Formats: sequence, structure tokens, C-alpha cells
Amino acid sequence: MRITAADVLVASPGRNFVTLRITTEDGVTGLGDATLNGRELAVAAYLSEHVVPLLIGRDAHRIEDTWQYLYRGAYWRRGPVTMASIAAVDTALWDIKAKVAGLPLYQLLGGRSRDGLLVYGHASGAELPELFDSINEHLEEGYRAVRVQTGIPGLPSVYGVASSKNAAAGAGSGSDARYDYEPARRSAVPVEESWDTRAYLRHAPTVFEAVRNEFGPELPLLHDAHHRLTPIQAAKLGKSLEPYDLFWLEDVTPAENQAVLRRVREHTTTPLAIGEVFNTIWDYRELFEEQLIDYVRSPVTHAGGITGLRRIFDYAAVYQIKSGVHGPTDVSPVGLAAAIHLGIAIPNFGIQEYMKHSPATHEVFRTTYTFEQGMLKPGEQPGLGVDYDDLVAQSFPYEAAYLPVNRLLDGSMHDW
Ligand SMILES: [Mg+2]
Repeated sequence: MRITAADVLVASPGRNFVTLRITTEDGVTGLGDATLNGRELAVAAYLSEHVVPLLIGRDAHRIEDTWQYLYRGAYWRRGPVTMASIAAVDTALWDIKAKVAGLPLYQLLGGRSRDGLLVYGHASGAELPELFDSINEHLEEGYRAVRVQTGIPGLPSVYGVASSKNAAAGAGSGSDARYDYEPARRSAVPVEESWDTRAYLRHAPTVFEAVRNEFGPELPLLHDAHHRLTPIQAAKLGKSLEPYDLFWLEDVTPAENQAVLRRVREHTTTPLAIGEVFNTIWDYRELFEEQLIDYVRSPVTHAGGITGLRRIFDYAAVYQIKSGVHGPTDVSPVGLAAAIHLGIAIPNFGIQEYMKHSPATHEVFRTTYTFEQGMLKPGEQPGLGVDYDDLVAQSFPYEAAYLPVNRLLDGSMHDW
């Protein structure tokens, strides 16, 4: 079953997405997500200039061999651009294989291990009353777990906090306007935010104390520190949040230096999640073998596809570490569908991040997965169960957008 075409599709229905569509000689098509938020066109060029020409004529059934061919063949291995490209090819080939088999993709990955994927949504508010409203809205929508992010006194804007409902309605475009956190802004240069670690460390425990007092002990609560802390600051935060029984504390340190997580672990029993910016199994070796984390954050899109991520999860299972797949809206519906098929099959599923995509996004990506009672479930049609509408996509051309950058109060660059 030879590959006869591979199209790199760039569109911006609500936000930018890069999608790869592979077509076989029999006319079977498969989709893969290659979206790298803020650096989209680098992956599009990598695919169209260096990968697509190598795919034409290859056997679409040889998924593992194609993965190894692109990974080893690049020589300059790893990195987000290469691994997002490999992920897109790999996911599209799994989509094709499942369509040819006449089965939903999860059946090829071992079949169902559970009824659905428990997800968490993003509750946020600049102040507590707004945060409580946001948590209540999530509970009304059926969410059974929420990530909690709030403003910090003295800082004008902070990662993870949605603009107010009215501001979102005014700033959005038509029916796309939503009360949601979207850090990437459409502009020629990134927005600059400011940061004060001491103010954050003082404020965070007071927020979780208030949330527990309001919502009780059962609701699973998550929090993202977004790579901003030193090891000892991270340890202090984990320790100060212990009374509020977090489901996880995410990305406490930059973690390029994996050994720093040892210091955090020595001081706190708050569960740790990390890895949304990691690309390969090698990025996790020390973290797994020393059991320094509890949840793996890599998405299908940035970790070499279903083939790459399944290998990471199997390795994690040896150490009782579970999945916690990254799922903001810059993971396209194709990337999310792939995560749902993988998550329903693996033995060590933990939780799935889920921010709903905008109506405009769903006009281009026609999906069949469902969200009910706090759980995502895959559709039952063959393959991933996602179709891409080229005609609609043409009305949403690419627009430059960047994630913000971050400065300390004295003007120094800091991790965003
Ligand atoms: Mg995160």
C-alpha cells in the first residue's frame, strides 16, 4: 500500500494548526497533528521540504520502520520540530492502518482498558470570586477534576488566568469569543508579562486553602507552576500545598536539568507531573528510574506520535508512573483524538487535559470523540475518527501568533 501524496495543511480556525494528510494508492487518507505553538511554520517547512519527498512511494503499513527511518535518518535527532514532524507522519499512518482494518484505532492498540478518559479542565480567575465561578461552571459542564490558576497580587497578568468574560467577548472574533485561557496572541512580536516568584509562593497556598474550604476535600485539584521555580522554591511550594491534597503539581522547574527534581522530591509528597515540552523517551530516563515524577505530560503531537508516546508510557509503567497527556487547544483535534485512542488502551492511564476547541476549529476538524460526565471517549468509526474540511480551512488563513515572554520585576528575562 504505497503512499502517493502527503499534504501539509496550515490553517487558523480560531488558532493556528499544522496538519499532515497522507494519501495511499488506494485513496485511503490519514491525518496527523504537527502543531508547534508559536513556531508552526518551522514544522510545516520541515515536513514539506524534508519529509514529504521521502514518504512518496513508501509502504504505508510500515509504521515502525518509517518512524526509525525519520528518527535515525535525520542524524540531528530529537527536538520539537523533528519530533512533531515524525509524530504527524506516525499518527497519519496509524489512522490509515486502522481505516484499512475497518477498526477504531484503539482496537489496534490493544482495545479498551477503561470506559473513558477522566479529564481535567482549566478553571481560573484573577480573584477568588471569579475563580469560584469558573470552578462551578466546569462542574456544571460535567468536569470531575479542575486545574486551578489565579492572579497574583501586584502582577497585572499571570499565566493560566483567562481574561474576564466581557473582555473575552470583546476581544474574540464573532462566535469564537469564549471565556477561556489562550496564551498565544496574534501579533508580530510576543506580549511581555511580568513575574514575582516570592509573591507567587506566598499567594498560592492561600488560594488552595480557600478552594478546599469552598468545594470540600474530594474534588481533584491540579496546578501548573509553568517551569518558573528553582529547585528549593519548588520544594517549598510542594510542601506548602500538601494540606490541600493536590492531584498533581505540574512543571515546577524547567527540568532540562532532570537531577533538580531530586531536591523537590526530598521535601514533598505532593505528586509531580512534568514533560509537556519533552520530545523523546530519553528526556524521561532519569525521572523514571529515580521515580522523581508521578505523571508524564507529553502529548502525541510532540513526542513522536503514537509509536513514540506508547514507548514512553510502557517505560513509565515499570515505575508505576501514569499518563497525564498535555491537551490545551494548540494540540489539534487530530492530536487530541490520537491521545484518546491511546489513553483508552494503555494500562497506566492517569488523567487527560481537556480544553474544548472553539466552534471555528470544529468547523475545519470534524470529530467523533465525545465528552460526557467528565470523560472523553473515542468514536467508533474506523481510524482516528477525524475529518479535515479543506474548503472551510481556506477561509482561515495562517496568522502569526506567539506565546508571551516573561520578565522579572527588575526587567530580567525569566522562564515563561
Ligand atoms: Mg502545563
